[in-house]
Amino acid sequence: MKIAIVGCGQLGRMLAEAAISLGHKLSFLADIGEQTRCVEEYGKVVRYVPGSSVGNIYDMLGRPDVVTIEKENVSVALLKALKSYCAVYPNPDAVYVSQNRIREKNFLNNRGLPVAPYSVLNSSRDLSESIRSFRFPVFIKHAEMGYDGKNQWKIKDHQALKKISEEYSGTPLVMEQGVEYLYEASLIAVRSVDGDIRCYPLTQNQHSDGILIGSFVSEQASNTEHLLPACHYIEILLKTWDYVGVLTVELFITDTGVLINEIAPRVHNSGHWTQTAHLCSQFENHIRAITGSKLGETNLKGSAGMVNLLGVNDLPVGLKSTHQVYLYPKALKPGRKMGHVNIVSGSSVEILNQMETLSELLYGVVPSARISEEDRYPISQES
Ligand code: ATP
Ligand code: MG
Repeated sequence: MKIAIVGCGQLGRMLAEAAISLGHKLSFLADIGEQTRCVEEYGKVVRYVPGSSVGNIYDMLGRPDVVTIEKENVSVALLKALKSYCAVYPNPDAVYVSQNRIREKNFLNNRGLPVAPYSVLNSSRDLSESIRSFRFPVFIKHAEMGYDGKNQWKIKDHQALKKISEEYSGTPLVMEQGVEYLYEASLIAVRSVDGDIRCYPLTQNQHSDGILIGSFVSEQASNTEHLLPACHYIEILLKTWDYVGVLTVELFITDTGVLINEIAPRVHNSGHWTQTAHLCSQFENHIRAITGSKLGETNLKGSAGMVNLLGVNDLPVGLKSTHQVYLYPKALKPGRKMGHVNIVSGSSVEILNQMETLSELLYGVVPSARISEEDRYPISQES
């Protein structure tokens, strides 16, 4: 089949690799100014020109059978218009909700899906009034264009709040209660055209300054009392949107249950370990779903880990044969996601140790909340 992917980053690259191995042909739609090196070798790249007709874009993309996305900041109007020409997955309504934190939180809240307490701020007055029903720390986030911890601030006291209030430009913001989570997790699920749903195991994620450093997953650690509610929530979302493809929910696991942090209507950085864990990767399953094929295996036997290469584009010394390195052809910038390393075998403890060693090699220090801390990764019973 002919597949067009909107977006040209590393997720598009890895989707393309999966699609090509399944025998599909690709084209890509790049936004104005978007870097395209990650995907150029896999198909034609069409640059969006303002004012071009949808029919023209569809023709330029080689008249694809299906259009999909690799990022959520895409034109929903264009996705909707393309539906007159071919299949568009996932549902653009899901993309629309995920593009704006206020819409997203209201959407989840209105459906009884649990989120941290939040308040919508439209003025600096809202800000000083809202804080009364929160306790520090709070997170203040732009409603739109946030990624990798950008456009958000962790506010610890009235002084910092005052500063934000003074700088506040009138853009809609959301105030969120800082959650004292046990650990952060994500759940990645996939739904086929005929409604089959499969979930990958619950993945435990370590962030530093709002950016994902590493992910760890094990059959046993996934099997906590939090898995069922998380699966239930993601199923509600998949069914509500008649969703086709991969959907991710980012979660806070607290001692009183699971909260949804945000939704990503796409493959996700915390699922990169699926590339090397002897199951069907998130990329392949997304392609299978959107091309109307049967879904592949999502059950993990054993454990897997992934460490991001942030602001680093050469191979760290000290890599082992159990390390599989993926480098993205992007211009190097401090802190930028330049690649990742999957740790493909070993016991849970061994994988966690390797993740810690790798973080030390890469960043000099282990992130302040140590990746292998057993209270964050409840695997201490496992050998
Ligand atoms: P992404 O790269 O996932 O798109 P983002 O910039 O959209 O990130 P969030 O996922 O909302 O932003 O937040 C990034 C990280 O900041 C979270 O993974 C978490 O570590 C921390 N964080 C955000 N909101 C909260 C909160 N309410 N309580 C505690 N930690 C939070
Ligand atoms: Mg996030």
